Amino acid sequence: MALGGAFCVLCGAEGELTTERLCIPCFKQRTTLSKLPETVQGYRCPKCMMYLHAKRWGHHTDEEYQEGLIEEVLEVDGRTNALGIAMLHQPIDDRNTRISVQVSGFIEEIEFETIHSTMVRISNAVCPTCTRKAGNYFEATVQLRSSGRRLGEDEVKAVRTTFDNYIDSIDPDPLFFINNEGDVPGGYDMVLGSKALARGWTKHLLRKFGGTSKETNSIVGRKDGEDLTRLTISYRKPAFDIGDVIRRKDRYWLIYSWQKEGAVITAVDRQERTGLTWRDLEKTTVVSRYVEQIDVELLNRDSSAAEFMDTNDWKVKTVSLPYDDDGIQSSIRIGFIGDEWVALPAITGGANDE
Ligand SMILES: [Zn+2]
Ligand SMILES: [Zn+2]
Repeated sequence: MALGGAFCVLCGAEGELTTERLCIPCFKQRTTLSKLPETVQGYRCPKCMMYLHAKRWGHHTDEEYQEGLIEEVLEVDGRTNALGIAMLHQPIDDRNTRISVQVSGFIEEIEFETIHSTMVRISNAVCPTCTRKAGNYFEATVQLRSSGRRLGEDEVKAVRTTFDNYIDSIDPDPLFFINNEGDVPGGYDMVLGSKALARGWTKHLLRKFGGTSKETNSIVGRKDGEDLTRLTISYRKPAFDIGDVIRRKDRYWLIYSWQKEGAVITAVDRQERTGLTWRDLEKTTVVSRYVEQIDVELLNRDSSAAEFMDTNDWKVKTVSLPYDDDGIQSSIRIGFIGDEWVALPAITGGANDE
């Protein structure tokens, strides 16, 4: 051994030494690249199949979840550079998966590699959402109604669909669930886990379909010295669609567009447009729904009237031309109002005013 020559403080070997003055074999022996427990515990809700990870419940694929759990408990030496982690999943049964974890990296420029084998075990745990659902927990009811008439089946469907879109567009919350839903006389009820959800969705409906909403709170008990309340929101979708004909002041009007305060209506008999508040609309009834109106081909026409074939009884009928008739159009839209067919002016341009 040369005097003053560098040597390993553990075994005395000379040659390449680390900053701690250890030879490579001694450094490798004293260094642990990574540690992983032999078993890793995960939790899955048996009702909704959500997984618990980092104190949050959510939907993950099995592999994604297992990898997340392992990354959480895997300890890697803080000095590691160029860390690489690879995993191999071997499902044993529905609850157990053996996972080989290969960890590689450089410490003090010396290459390390460890292969761990661990068992990921999934146990059942009912998530807070399912616990509340099972306990019939709810905070709010949104009553979907129509003003003036029964909410149609197609309307219920259109309104209900917006709920799924809305809940997908907001941050998840354990209380954002449907407790119950279904048809009731006059409309449809949605019983929801959260007041905030009920309010948020109602706002969404008002923007999309117009209409009005009314909130009622009822006290259902006390908890921790505070009143427990339940919220009921009655949402009234306008009983009208763009193109519906209403009767107002003994004249017929078409719903032209929605605005925040109500609707813009346009007269059937002459060029005239006006606004109608929701309150006014509620006092109005539809005399011809847009979906029940038809487009007919004109057989003959003169300056003020035209003939068409009524396919209900296969008879030729006469109808007065609409005020906006251009003298050459070959078809017109008509609605059966009272006991006769009425030609309707075109309402191009009418739309939801968002
Ligand atoms: Zn040594
Ligand atoms: Zn659940």
